[in-house]
Amino acid sequence: MQTPFWNKEIETAERAVLQKIQLERLRETILWALKTPFYQKQLREARISSPDNIRSLSDLRKIPFTTKDDLRLNFPKGLLAVDMKDVVRIHSSSGTTGIPTVIYYSKEDIDNWSDLMARCIFATGATRADIFQNMMTYGMFTGGLGLHYGAERVGMAVIPIGGGNTKRQIKTMKDFCTTILHVTPSYLLHIHSKLDEAEVKREELVLKKAFIGAEPHSEDFRKKIEHIWHIDAYNSYGLSELNGPGVAFECAYKKDMHLWEDAYIVEIINPETGQPVKDGQPGEVVLTNLIRRATPMIRYRTRDLAFLHPEPCPCGRTHRRLSRILGRTDDMLIINGINVFPSQIEEVVMRIPEVATNYVIQVEKKGALDHLTVKVEIYPKLFLGEPAQLDRLKARITDELHSAIILHPSVELHEPNSLPVSEGKAKRVIDLRPKE
Ligand code: AMP
Ligand code: ZN
Repeated sequence: MQTPFWNKEIETAERAVLQKIQLERLRETILWALKTPFYQKQLREARISSPDNIRSLSDLRKIPFTTKDDLRLNFPKGLLAVDMKDVVRIHSSSGTTGIPTVIYYSKEDIDNWSDLMARCIFATGATRADIFQNMMTYGMFTGGLGLHYGAERVGMAVIPIGGGNTKRQIKTMKDFCTTILHVTPSYLLHIHSKLDEAEVKREELVLKKAFIGAEPHSEDFRKKIEHIWHIDAYNSYGLSELNGPGVAFECAYKKDMHLWEDAYIVEIINPETGQPVKDGQPGEVVLTNLIRRATPMIRYRTRDLAFLHPEPCPCGRTHRRLSRILGRTDDMLIINGINVFPSQIEEVVMRIPEVATNYVIQVEKKGALDHLTVKVEIYPKLFLGEPAQLDRLKARITDELHSAIILHPSVELHEPNSLPVSEGKAKRVIDLRPKE
């Protein structure tokens, strides 16, 4: 399963070499950060007035964290480190509060980002002979353009179709002999249920791989995708604040994602204390971008929960692997005092073979208590089956959920394609409880 390297020297560099590169680049990043009003203040707090104050990688810990709120409060130019005439791209997200965040990219930033993406693509075994259908939304969201530039750098034929219009997606896969898709995992499962409607059979497609990301999903969800589509699906992780996709990506071994440590410093912290967790323990992912000029980003709290694999990967890449995202510090639901992550529910429902491709988690108040309902779609032939059989299935799902999350949810079985689907990131949780 050895796959070619895009940049062998860096991808297989000894840890000591990587750390030396990190230190040099961290010092350079400080120089750029000092050009921005926001980091001038942050670095002053840490008594850092020049790169000389950073003598070892552990000095990074003197610098305060950067949060999403910091980005919002410093909108639009508080983190801009270059002259606007050197900016070639702007990505921005509006988020749930409506106050936007913005990331600026210089030409060099886009170039470096594309190169990281090319590494990711090569690590999966994809080559310039592949036909790449990019089903991620283009525009202000970084998912579309990020992979687009990387795929072009590799030399693949890129189909920039963007999100939505399922029948057209399927037809395009057939017409252009698409071999690789880039798509959210939830949408990829959904498209499969539309093959019949589009009058295309799986055997007519030459699909081999999918790069799936932008939203949390479990190992069982991936297995389901691979099983029904007969493809290999590779997890892709990134976030706009740290460029977008290309922060971490799975290699051909598909045992979690190499995080490019010459471009990012990763810390895993206890989200409550802000202190580092022990090696291999899960915690909040904190990232420092080492090669971006226009918008430096130091110790950004992603709110994503994951752990790092301390052991090396058989593929030969020395950059450590980040586990799949286990949840977010801000998506934890507290239901009648019990902490539940949506990912725990997904793990259970996706393991059950009768459950089809979509599910929704709903929480509401009933009297003084919270009530959890898990709605799942099931395969058509089961849906039309015996009521007793459906009752048994419902009871089984309820029991399995109970063992996993302690709570006793109501389980509803739904017809295929009846629950809402998103063409971008899936919205799995509907919390109808009144806000305090
Ligand atoms: P955005 O700011 O729109 O780029 O969204 C970034 C967020 O999407 C991350 O912080 C994660 O919460 C989520 N995300 C991105 N990729 C993945 C992935 N492969 N698995 C789980 N969550 C992901
Ligand atoms: Zn590997």
